[in-house]
Amino acid sequence: MKDFNYFAPTEIVFGCGRVKETGALASRFGKKALLVTVPEFPAIAPLYKRVKESLAAAGIEVCHYDGVIPNPTTEVVTAGTKLARSFGADLVIGLGGGSSMDTAKAIAVEATHPGTAWDYLHYTAGPTEKTLPIIAIGTTAGTGSQTTPCSVITNTAKKDKSAIWHKNIFPKIAVVDPELTVSMPAPVTAQTGFDAFCHNFEAYIAVNSNPLVEIMAVEAIKIIAEYLPRAYNNGTDLEARSRMAWADTLGGLTNASAGVTLPHGLGMQIGGHCPQVTHGQALAVQYPEFTRFTWRSAVKKFAVMGRIFNPALNGTSDEEAAEKSCEAVDRFLKKIGLWIDLKSLRVTKEDIREIADCGQVLGDYKNNPRVATIPEMYDLLMRCYERV
Ligand code: NAD
Repeated sequence: MKDFNYFAPTEIVFGCGRVKETGALASRFGKKALLVTVPEFPAIAPLYKRVKESLAAAGIEVCHYDGVIPNPTTEVVTAGTKLARSFGADLVIGLGGGSSMDTAKAIAVEATHPGTAWDYLHYTAGPTEKTLPIIAIGTTAGTGSQTTPCSVITNTAKKDKSAIWHKNIFPKIAVVDPELTVSMPAPVTAQTGFDAFCHNFEAYIAVNSNPLVEIMAVEAIKIIAEYLPRAYNNGTDLEARSRMAWADTLGGLTNASAGVTLPHGLGMQIGGHCPQVTHGQALAVQYPEFTRFTWRSAVKKFAVMGRIFNPALNGTSDEEAAEKSCEAVDRFLKKIGLWIDLKSLRVTKEDIREIADCGQVLGDYKNNPRVATIPEMYDLLMRCYERV
Protein backbone atom coordinates (compact mmCIF):
# COMPACT_ATOMS: atom_id res chain seq x y z
CA MET A 1 0.00 0.00 0.00
CA LYS A 2 1.16 3.51 -0.69
CA ASP A 3 1.54 6.15 2.05
CA PHE A 4 -1.23 8.66 2.55
CA ASN A 5 -2.50 11.41 4.86
CA TYR A 6 -6.09 12.07 5.75
CA PHE A 7 -7.12 15.38 7.33
CA ALA A 8 -10.72 16.51 7.79
CA PRO A 9 -11.10 18.94 10.67
CA THR A 10 -14.68 20.10 10.03
CA GLU A 11 -17.28 19.18 12.65
CA ILE A 12 -20.29 17.74 10.81
CA VAL A 13 -23.71 18.45 12.30
CA PHE A 14 -26.01 16.22 10.23
CA GLY A 15 -29.75 15.80 10.36
CA CYS A 16 -33.18 17.14 9.47
CA GLY A 17 -34.08 20.27 11.43
CA ARG A 18 -30.60 20.80 12.80
CA VAL A 19 -30.30 24.27 11.27
CA LYS A 20 -32.07 25.44 14.43
CA GLU A 21 -28.80 24.83 16.27
CA THR A 22 -26.99 27.51 14.24
CA GLY A 23 -27.10 30.13 17.00
CA ALA A 24 -25.71 27.80 19.67
CA LEU A 25 -22.98 26.59 17.31
CA ALA A 26 -22.03 30.12 16.24
CA SER A 27 -21.79 31.34 19.83
CA ARG A 28 -18.60 29.25 20.18
CA PHE A 29 -16.83 31.71 17.90
CA GLY A 30 -18.00 35.17 18.99
CA LYS A 31 -20.87 37.61 19.19
CA LYS A 32 -21.02 39.09 15.70
CA ALA A 33 -21.75 37.02 12.62
CA LEU A 34 -21.70 38.01 8.97
CA LEU A 35 -24.41 35.96 7.23
CA VAL A 36 -23.58 35.43 3.54
CA THR A 37 -26.32 34.47 1.06
CA VAL A 38 -27.85 35.09 -2.34
CA PRO A 39 -30.63 37.72 -2.38
CA GLU A 40 -33.86 36.63 -0.74
CA PHE A 41 -36.50 34.87 -2.88
CA PRO A 42 -39.78 33.31 -1.74
CA ALA A 43 -38.57 29.70 -1.43
CA ILE A 44 -35.62 30.67 0.74
CA ALA A 45 -37.04 33.60 2.76
CA PRO A 46 -38.36 31.43 5.66
CA LEU A 47 -34.90 29.87 6.04
CA TYR A 48 -33.17 33.24 6.34
CA LYS A 49 -35.71 34.19 9.03
CA ARG A 50 -35.15 30.93 10.90
CA VAL A 51 -31.37 31.29 10.91
CA LYS A 52 -31.55 34.89 12.06
CA GLU A 53 -33.96 33.92 14.86
CA SER A 54 -31.64 31.13 15.99
CA LEU A 55 -28.68 33.53 16.04
CA ALA A 56 -30.66 36.20 17.90
CA ALA A 57 -31.78 33.65 20.51
CA ALA A 58 -28.10 32.85 21.16
CA GLY A 59 -27.34 36.57 21.63
CA ILE A 60 -25.52 36.93 18.33
CA GLU A 61 -25.71 40.15 16.35
CA VAL A 62 -26.08 39.56 12.61
CA CYS A 63 -25.07 41.55 9.56
CA HIS A 64 -26.66 40.05 6.42
CA TYR A 65 -24.69 40.28 3.17
CA ASP A 66 -27.05 39.04 0.46
CA GLY A 67 -24.98 39.96 -2.59
CA VAL A 68 -23.84 36.46 -3.66
CA ILE A 69 -24.35 35.39 -7.29
CA PRO A 70 -23.84 31.92 -8.81
CA ASN A 71 -20.16 31.54 -9.80
CA PRO A 72 -19.22 34.35 -7.36
CA THR A 73 -16.72 36.95 -8.51
CA THR A 74 -13.87 38.82 -6.86
CA GLU A 75 -16.15 41.92 -6.76
CA VAL A 76 -18.80 39.99 -4.84
CA VAL A 77 -16.19 38.92 -2.29
CA THR A 78 -14.79 42.44 -1.88
CA ALA A 79 -18.26 43.97 -1.32
CA GLY A 80 -18.91 41.39 1.41
CA THR A 81 -15.50 42.00 2.92
CA LYS A 82 -16.25 45.71 3.33
CA LEU A 83 -19.33 44.82 5.34
CA ALA A 84 -17.46 42.25 7.44
CA ARG A 85 -14.81 44.83 8.31
CA SER A 86 -17.13 47.74 9.10
CA PHE A 87 -19.36 45.44 11.18
CA GLY A 88 -16.39 43.85 12.98
CA ALA A 89 -17.50 40.27 12.29
CA ASP A 90 -16.13 37.56 14.58
CA LEU A 91 -17.24 34.78 12.22
CA VAL A 92 -18.72 34.25 8.78
CA ILE A 93 -21.70 32.01 8.05
CA GLY A 94 -22.20 30.86 4.45
CA LEU A 95 -25.84 29.84 3.95
CA GLY A 96 -26.79 28.55 0.49
CA GLY A 97 -25.20 26.54 -2.29
CA GLY A 98 -21.52 26.33 -3.06
CA SER A 99 -21.57 29.93 -4.28
CA SER A 100 -22.63 31.26 -0.86
CA MET A 101 -20.38 28.94 1.15
CA ASP A 102 -17.37 29.76 -1.06
CA THR A 103 -18.04 33.50 -0.86
CA ALA A 104 -18.18 33.21 2.93
CA LYS A 105 -14.79 31.47 2.93
CA ALA A 106 -13.21 34.09 0.66
CA ILE A 107 -14.60 36.93 2.79
CA ALA A 108 -13.19 35.25 5.91
CA VAL A 109 -9.78 35.45 4.19
CA GLU A 110 -10.00 38.90 2.62
CA ALA A 111 -11.30 40.52 5.83
CA THR A 112 -8.23 39.36 7.75
CA HIS A 113 -5.40 39.68 5.23
CA PRO A 114 -3.75 42.37 3.10
CA GLY A 115 -4.79 42.54 -0.56
CA THR A 116 -7.76 40.52 -1.82
CA ALA A 117 -8.82 36.88 -1.60
CA TRP A 118 -7.47 36.37 -5.16
CA ASP A 119 -3.94 36.91 -3.73
CA TYR A 120 -4.31 33.68 -1.70
CA LEU A 121 -5.06 31.16 -4.47
CA HIS A 122 -3.98 27.50 -4.33
CA TYR A 123 -0.47 28.09 -5.73
CA THR A 124 0.41 30.74 -3.08
CA ALA A 125 1.34 30.25 0.59
CA GLY A 126 -2.39 30.72 1.26
CA PRO A 127 -4.25 32.39 4.10
CA THR A 128 -3.01 32.31 7.69
CA GLU A 129 -4.75 31.25 10.87
CA LYS A 130 -6.05 34.81 11.19
CA THR A 131 -8.83 33.75 8.78
CA LEU A 132 -12.21 34.27 10.44
CA PRO A 133 -13.99 31.11 11.61
CA ILE A 134 -16.42 29.80 9.00
CA ILE A 135 -19.72 27.96 9.45
CA ALA A 136 -21.08 26.42 6.26
CA ILE A 137 -24.77 25.60 5.88
CA GLY A 138 -25.60 24.03 2.53
CA THR A 139 -28.92 24.35 0.72
CA THR A 140 -27.86 22.37 -2.38
CA ALA A 141 -26.44 18.85 -2.41
CA GLY A 142 -23.48 18.95 -4.71
CA THR A 143 -20.36 20.98 -4.08
CA GLY A 144 -19.42 19.47 -0.73
CA SER A 145 -17.99 22.91 0.07
CA GLN A 146 -19.12 22.48 3.68
CA THR A 147 -16.27 19.98 4.17
CA THR A 148 -13.58 21.26 1.80
CA PRO A 149 -10.58 23.59 2.18
CA CYS A 150 -11.66 25.17 -1.11
CA SER A 151 -13.26 28.44 -2.19
CA VAL A 152 -13.93 28.87 -5.90
CA ILE A 153 -13.95 32.45 -7.20
CA THR A 154 -14.18 33.93 -10.69
CA ASN A 155 -12.00 36.80 -11.83
CA THR A 156 -14.14 38.24 -14.61
CA ALA A 157 -11.44 40.59 -15.96
CA LYS A 158 -9.05 37.66 -16.35
CA LYS A 159 -11.76 35.22 -17.56
CA ASP A 160 -10.34 32.96 -14.89
CA LYS A 161 -12.13 30.73 -12.38
CA SER A 162 -9.75 29.54 -9.70
CA ALA A 163 -9.69 28.56 -6.05
CA ILE A 164 -8.18 29.17 -2.67
CA TRP A 165 -7.21 25.72 -1.41
CA HIS A 166 -5.86 25.78 2.12
CA LYS A 167 -6.42 24.07 5.47
CA ASN A 168 -7.21 27.42 7.10
CA ILE A 169 -10.49 27.70 5.19
CA PHE A 170 -11.94 24.35 6.20
CA PRO A 171 -15.25 25.35 7.83
CA LYS A 172 -15.14 24.92 11.60
CA ILE A 173 -18.65 23.49 11.39
CA ALA A 174 -20.77 22.10 8.56
CA VAL A 175 -24.49 22.11 9.24
CA VAL A 176 -25.94 19.51 6.86
CA ASP A 177 -29.71 19.74 7.18
CA PRO A 178 -31.38 17.83 4.32
CA GLU A 179 -34.65 19.73 4.80
CA LEU A 180 -32.95 22.84 3.43
CA THR A 181 -32.51 21.17 0.05
CA VAL A 182 -36.19 20.34 -0.48
CA SER A 183 -36.92 23.67 -2.21
CA MET A 184 -34.25 23.13 -4.89
CA PRO A 185 -35.87 23.07 -8.35
CA ALA A 186 -35.35 19.86 -10.36
CA PRO A 187 -32.64 21.27 -12.71
CA VAL A 188 -30.58 22.56 -9.74
CA THR A 189 -31.07 19.20 -8.01
CA ALA A 190 -29.70 17.41 -11.08
CA GLN A 191 -26.78 19.76 -11.70
CA THR A 192 -25.62 19.87 -8.10
CA GLY A 193 -26.26 16.15 -7.55
CA PHE A 194 -24.17 15.31 -10.61
CA ASP A 195 -21.39 17.50 -9.18
CA ALA A 196 -21.48 15.31 -6.06
CA PHE A 197 -21.11 12.24 -8.27
CA CYS A 198 -18.13 13.86 -10.03
CA HIS A 199 -16.33 14.70 -6.77
CA ASN A 200 -16.68 11.15 -5.57
CA PHE A 201 -15.91 9.42 -8.85
CA GLU A 202 -12.96 11.65 -9.70
CA ALA A 203 -11.49 11.33 -6.19
CA TYR A 204 -11.96 7.54 -6.51
CA ILE A 205 -10.05 7.21 -9.79
CA ALA A 206 -7.56 9.99 -8.96
CA VAL A 207 -3.84 9.31 -9.03
CA ASN A 208 -3.85 10.75 -5.47
CA SER A 209 -6.68 8.56 -4.19
CA ASN A 210 -6.29 6.59 -0.97
CA PRO A 211 -8.03 3.65 0.72
CA LEU A 212 -10.26 5.79 2.93
CA VAL A 213 -11.37 7.92 -0.01
CA GLU A 214 -12.11 4.76 -2.02
CA ILE A 215 -14.48 3.48 0.67
CA MET A 216 -16.31 6.78 1.00
CA ALA A 217 -16.48 7.40 -2.75
CA VAL A 218 -17.95 3.99 -3.63
CA GLU A 219 -20.57 4.41 -0.92
CA ALA A 220 -21.46 7.88 -2.26
CA ILE A 221 -21.67 6.67 -5.87
CA LYS A 222 -24.10 3.92 -4.81
CA ILE A 223 -26.24 6.50 -3.00
CA ILE A 224 -26.25 8.90 -5.94
CA ALA A 225 -27.12 6.19 -8.48
CA GLU A 226 -30.20 5.31 -6.45
CA TYR A 227 -31.32 8.56 -4.87
CA LEU A 228 -30.46 11.38 -7.28
CA PRO A 229 -33.14 10.30 -9.79
CA ARG A 230 -35.59 10.06 -6.87
CA ALA A 231 -34.76 13.55 -5.60
CA TYR A 232 -34.92 14.87 -9.17
CA ASN A 233 -38.36 13.38 -9.79
CA ASN A 234 -39.81 14.27 -6.41
CA GLY A 235 -38.10 17.12 -4.56
CA THR A 236 -40.16 16.51 -1.42
CA ASP A 237 -38.83 12.95 -1.01
CA LEU A 238 -36.99 13.61 2.25
CA GLU A 239 -35.31 10.21 2.33
CA ALA A 240 -33.78 10.91 -1.10
CA ARG A 241 -32.81 14.43 -0.05
CA SER A 242 -31.15 13.09 3.11
CA ARG A 243 -29.17 10.45 1.24
CA MET A 244 -28.06 13.06 -1.31
CA ALA A 245 -27.00 15.47 1.46
CA TRP A 246 -24.84 12.68 2.85
CA ALA A 247 -23.36 11.76 -0.56
CA ASP A 248 -22.62 15.45 -1.09
CA THR A 249 -20.83 15.67 2.25
CA LEU A 250 -18.84 12.55 1.40
CA GLY A 251 -17.94 14.23 -1.91
CA GLY A 252 -16.49 17.15 0.00
CA LEU A 253 -14.41 14.78 2.12
CA THR A 254 -13.18 12.74 -0.85
CA ASN A 255 -12.38 15.83 -2.92
CA ALA A 256 -10.61 17.45 0.05
CA SER A 257 -8.39 14.41 0.46
CA ALA A 258 -7.72 13.12 -3.08
CA GLY A 259 -8.67 16.04 -5.31
CA VAL A 260 -10.54 15.89 -8.60
CA THR A 261 -9.42 15.20 -12.17
CA LEU A 262 -9.75 16.25 -15.79
CA PRO A 263 -13.46 17.22 -15.93
CA HIS A 264 -13.10 19.60 -12.99
CA GLY A 265 -9.95 21.20 -14.41
CA LEU A 266 -11.71 21.82 -17.74
CA GLY A 267 -15.01 22.65 -16.00
CA MET A 268 -13.37 25.50 -14.12
CA GLN A 269 -12.14 26.92 -17.42
CA ILE A 270 -15.59 26.57 -18.98
CA GLY A 271 -17.03 28.51 -16.00
CA GLY A 272 -14.29 31.16 -16.21
CA HIS A 273 -14.86 31.76 -19.93
CA CYS A 274 -18.62 31.26 -20.03
CA PRO A 275 -20.19 32.29 -16.70
CA GLN A 276 -23.69 31.42 -17.97
CA VAL A 277 -22.74 27.73 -17.61
CA THR A 278 -23.31 26.33 -14.12
CA HIS A 279 -20.65 24.17 -12.52
CA GLY A 280 -22.80 21.04 -12.78
CA GLN A 281 -23.54 21.67 -16.46
CA ALA A 282 -19.83 22.22 -17.16
CA LEU A 283 -19.16 18.74 -15.77
CA ALA A 284 -22.16 16.91 -17.24
CA VAL A 285 -21.45 18.16 -20.72
CA GLN A 286 -17.97 16.58 -20.71
CA TYR A 287 -18.69 13.24 -19.05
CA PRO A 288 -19.71 11.21 -22.12
CA GLU A 289 -16.34 12.00 -23.72
CA PHE A 290 -14.32 12.03 -20.50
CA THR A 291 -15.38 8.47 -19.60
CA ARG A 292 -14.46 7.21 -23.09
CA PHE A 293 -11.13 9.03 -22.95
CA THR A 294 -10.18 7.62 -19.54
CA TRP A 295 -11.69 4.18 -18.85
CA ARG A 296 -8.84 2.13 -20.30
CA SER A 297 -6.43 3.73 -17.80
CA ALA A 298 -8.48 2.74 -14.74
CA VAL A 299 -10.32 -0.41 -15.78
CA LYS A 300 -11.05 -1.82 -12.30
CA LYS A 301 -12.50 1.41 -10.94
CA PHE A 302 -14.58 2.17 -14.03
CA ALA A 303 -15.86 -1.42 -13.79
CA VAL A 304 -16.94 -0.83 -10.17
CA MET A 305 -18.79 2.34 -11.18
CA GLY A 306 -20.37 0.64 -14.21
CA ARG A 307 -21.70 -2.23 -12.10
CA ILE A 308 -23.23 0.20 -9.60
CA PHE A 309 -25.19 1.96 -12.35
CA ASN A 310 -25.92 -1.25 -14.26
CA PRO A 311 -26.06 -4.39 -12.09
CA ALA A 312 -26.39 -6.48 -15.29
CA LEU A 313 -22.62 -5.92 -15.66
CA ASN A 314 -21.96 -8.01 -12.53
CA GLY A 315 -21.34 -11.18 -14.49
CA THR A 316 -19.01 -9.61 -17.04
CA SER A 317 -15.23 -9.06 -17.15
CA ASP A 318 -13.75 -5.86 -15.71
CA GLU A 319 -12.80 -4.80 -19.21
CA GLU A 320 -16.35 -5.13 -20.48
CA ALA A 321 -17.92 -3.53 -17.38
CA ALA A 322 -15.47 -0.61 -17.61
CA GLU A 323 -16.20 -0.01 -21.28
CA LYS A 324 -19.95 -0.26 -20.73
CA SER A 325 -19.75 2.12 -17.76
CA CYS A 326 -19.57 4.90 -20.35
CA GLU A 327 -23.02 4.02 -21.66
CA ALA A 328 -24.29 3.68 -18.08
CA VAL A 329 -23.21 7.26 -17.36
CA ASP A 330 -24.86 8.43 -20.61
CA ARG A 331 -28.15 6.82 -19.52
CA PHE A 332 -27.87 8.37 -16.06
CA LEU A 333 -27.35 11.82 -17.57
CA LYS A 334 -30.43 11.36 -19.74
CA LYS A 335 -32.44 10.24 -16.70
CA ILE A 336 -31.68 13.48 -14.84
CA GLY A 337 -32.09 15.85 -17.78
CA LEU A 338 -28.38 16.51 -18.30
CA TRP A 339 -27.84 15.13 -21.79
CA ILE A 340 -26.55 18.50 -22.97
CA ASP A 341 -23.98 19.89 -25.38
CA LEU A 342 -21.75 22.94 -25.40
CA LYS A 343 -23.64 24.54 -28.28
CA SER A 344 -26.90 24.63 -26.30
CA LEU A 345 -24.97 26.11 -23.33
CA ARG A 346 -23.89 28.98 -25.65
CA VAL A 347 -20.24 27.97 -25.63
CA THR A 348 -18.81 28.78 -29.07
CA LYS A 349 -16.08 26.97 -30.98
CA GLU A 350 -13.84 29.99 -30.31
CA ASP A 351 -14.54 29.60 -26.57
CA ILE A 352 -13.60 25.92 -26.86
CA ARG A 353 -10.24 26.88 -28.35
CA GLU A 354 -9.54 29.28 -25.43
CA ILE A 355 -10.82 26.83 -22.80
CA ALA A 356 -8.62 24.01 -24.12
CA ASP A 357 -5.60 26.31 -24.26
CA CYS A 358 -6.08 26.97 -20.49
CA GLY A 359 -6.76 23.30 -19.74
CA GLN A 360 -3.47 22.78 -17.92
CA VAL A 361 -3.61 25.94 -15.78
CA LEU A 362 -5.03 23.97 -12.86
CA GLY A 363 -3.26 20.78 -11.82
CA ASP A 364 -6.40 18.59 -11.82
CA TYR A 365 -5.62 17.10 -15.25
CA LYS A 366 -2.43 15.54 -13.80
CA ASN A 367 -4.56 13.71 -11.22
CA ASN A 368 -6.46 11.92 -14.02
CA PRO A 369 -5.43 8.30 -14.68
CA ARG A 370 -4.82 9.34 -18.30
CA VAL A 371 -3.10 12.71 -18.63
CA ALA A 372 -4.48 14.76 -21.52
CA THR A 373 -2.45 17.03 -23.75
CA ILE A 374 -3.90 20.38 -24.87
CA PRO A 375 -4.77 18.98 -28.35
CA GLU A 376 -6.52 16.03 -26.64
CA MET A 377 -8.48 18.44 -24.44
CA TYR A 378 -9.50 20.43 -27.51
CA ASP A 379 -10.57 17.26 -29.29
CA LEU A 380 -12.53 16.06 -26.22
CA LEU A 381 -14.38 19.38 -25.91
CA MET A 382 -15.13 19.59 -29.64
CA ARG A 383 -16.80 16.18 -29.40
CA CYS A 384 -19.09 17.74 -26.76
CA TYR A 385 -20.07 20.65 -29.02
CA GLU A 386 -23.13 19.12 -30.60
CA ARG A 387 -24.82 15.98 -29.32
CA VAL A 388 -27.63 13.98 -30.84
P1 NAD B 1 -25.17 27.79 -6.36
O1 NAD B 1 -24.77 28.02 -4.97
O2 NAD B 1 -24.59 28.66 -7.41
O3 NAD B 1 -26.75 27.83 -6.44
C1 NAD B 1 -27.40 27.61 -7.69
C2 NAD B 1 -28.79 28.25 -7.68
O4 NAD B 1 -29.64 27.52 -6.84
C3 NAD B 1 -28.80 29.69 -7.16
O5 NAD B 1 -29.61 30.47 -7.97
C4 NAD B 1 -29.36 29.54 -5.76
O6 NAD B 1 -30.04 30.68 -5.35
C5 NAD B 1 -30.31 28.38 -5.93
N1 NAD B 1 -30.55 27.61 -4.71
C6 NAD B 1 -29.60 27.13 -3.85
N2 NAD B 1 -30.20 26.41 -2.89
C7 NAD B 1 -31.53 26.45 -3.13
C8 NAD B 1 -32.66 25.90 -2.47
N3 NAD B 1 -32.55 25.12 -1.37
N4 NAD B 1 -33.88 26.16 -2.98
C9 NAD B 1 -34.03 26.91 -4.10
N5 NAD B 1 -33.00 27.44 -4.77
C10 NAD B 1 -31.76 27.21 -4.29
O7 NAD B 1 -24.93 26.26 -6.82
P2 NAD B 1 -23.90 25.18 -6.32
O8 NAD B 1 -23.79 24.21 -7.44
O9 NAD B 1 -24.23 24.67 -4.99
O10 NAD B 1 -22.51 25.97 -6.21
C11 NAD B 1 -21.75 26.25 -7.35
C12 NAD B 1 -20.47 26.97 -7.00
O11 NAD B 1 -19.69 26.17 -6.08
C13 NAD B 1 -19.60 27.17 -8.22
O12 NAD B 1 -18.94 28.41 -8.17
C14 NAD B 1 -18.62 26.02 -8.13
O13 NAD B 1 -17.44 26.25 -8.85
C15 NAD B 1 -18.38 25.97 -6.64
N6 NAD B 1 -17.82 24.71 -6.12
C16 NAD B 1 -17.14 24.75 -4.95
C17 NAD B 1 -16.57 23.62 -4.40
C18 NAD B 1 -15.81 23.69 -3.11
O14 NAD B 1 -15.29 22.69 -2.63
N7 NAD B 1 -15.69 24.85 -2.52
C19 NAD B 1 -16.73 22.39 -5.04
C20 NAD B 1 -17.45 22.35 -6.22
C21 NAD B 1 -18.01 23.51 -6.74
